[in-house]
Amino acid sequence: MASLANAATRALRAYDPGHDLPALRKRFGAVLAELGSNENTLGPSPRAVAAIEAALPDIFRYPDPQGGALKAALATHLRVDPAQIALGNGSHELLMLIAQCFADASNSVVFSEFGFAVFPIATAAAGAIPIRVPALPRDHSTMPLGHELDAMAAAIRPDTRIVYLANPNNPTGTWVSDAALEAFLARAPATTLVVVDEAYQEFVDDPALTTALRLLPKYPNLIVTRTFSKAYALAGLRVGYAVSFIENINVIERLRESFNVNSLALAAAEAALGDAQHVARSKSFNLAERAWLTEQLRARGLRVLPSQTNFILVDFARDAAPIEAALFDRGVIARPMGGYGLGEFLRISVGSRAENGRLLEALP
Ligand SMILES: *Cc1c(COP(=O)(O)O)cnc(C)c1O
Repeated sequence: MASLANAATRALRAYDPGHDLPALRKRFGAVLAELGSNENTLGPSPRAVAAIEAALPDIFRYPDPQGGALKAALATHLRVDPAQIALGNGSHELLMLIAQCFADASNSVVFSEFGFAVFPIATAAAGAIPIRVPALPRDHSTMPLGHELDAMAAAIRPDTRIVYLANPNNPTGTWVSDAALEAFLARAPATTLVVVDEAYQEFVDDPALTTALRLLPKYPNLIVTRTFSKAYALAGLRVGYAVSFIENINVIERLRESFNVNSLALAAAEAALGDAQHVARSKSFNLAERAWLTEQLRARGLRVLPSQTNFILVDFARDAAPIEAALFDRGVIARPMGGYGLGEFLRISVGSRAENGRLLEALP
């Protein structure tokens, strides 16, 4: 029966969930250090939890199909029109929807080698032609494995409908500056949508990088996506958003499932957005802890790539599979990178000091 799947789907494999986390939580209990999924170890804002409790009695009702209250709060927060925002069941859903709405077998989609794993999947789901652009070299002085924007701009063909780029990028942690991104947008044709995935934007502290949102008035072909899964610590609820020129959002709205964001998620995201202190605390905690963890790993002779995110990519300079297995046996989950062709690397989320300490102790 699998041969009945369409050509694009036949070429794909199902999402690899990695380890069976529910079973591991039972086995290791509180000492399990989950450093594989870039979750915010501080947990959500208490205000988000209270909002979920308040919304619970109404779960027999359908959620607001427009997400009006969350959009209004986001519009104020981001200084855009609410009509410029689409909500998604995580930003993953929006990245997929954008390809489904705008690309098909007659056009191509550009993304970088070592770009976010969802980009090739979204391309395949739309049946479009993937153009994977080589990343910067491993030994690049400032952004090893990062997006090479000049090469990406040069790879755009007349039939290229979408360019996906994550800034900062997962799994590399690397980023491009505001100036470099604007130069890229200036080169991209108006008929090519540039999707900038800012899943980690709230963690950024490099003054050269702010957000692509400020370029929206100038570039109607720009779409910025963000998520409540990372800094806002609501990964389990699945809420993301896209911001763009109103016409692009209206197209996405045609294919969006009407009740794609559930009522608890809408309430929690709105409350989390209102707790600026919690986000600020998460950011400063992450900065300090990432610096400490990086220093500890470097002291062990390991190369740690630069990061503006809540994870680091660590180069073990040899097959990292046995290292990942040894960590796993001691209840420390890291993310293997073999699927990206980076078998010597592990991606490690910044955890609490206790979790990071357990990681360091468990390293063979
Ligand atoms: C985690 C992540 C997302 C967010 O996914 P959600 O579906 O919103 O949970 C999007 N892009 C990148 C690059 C990510 O790392």
